[in-house]
Amino acid sequence: MVLSGRHDDPKLEQLARETFAMFPNCHRCGQPIARFEDADIRVHTQRVVHRGECPPPPSVEQVLP
Ligand SMILES: [Zn+2]
Repeated sequence: MVLSGRHDDPKLEQLARETFAMFPNCHRCGQPIARFEDADIRVHTQRVVHRGECPPPPSVEQVLP
């Protein structure tokens, strides 16, 4: 049963948004996902990953003062 992508059930939609609110970080690369639309949410496993490819990791040097 595919739950990722577009789903028409409003309860699943709400559950997906709640899952994204609880787990805003990508399960694959660990980076926060900026938008709900960018997230691929597997409701039953409560896994959230970037839709498609993960972005490249940010440079650590830019974060340091
Ligand atoms: Zn990712």
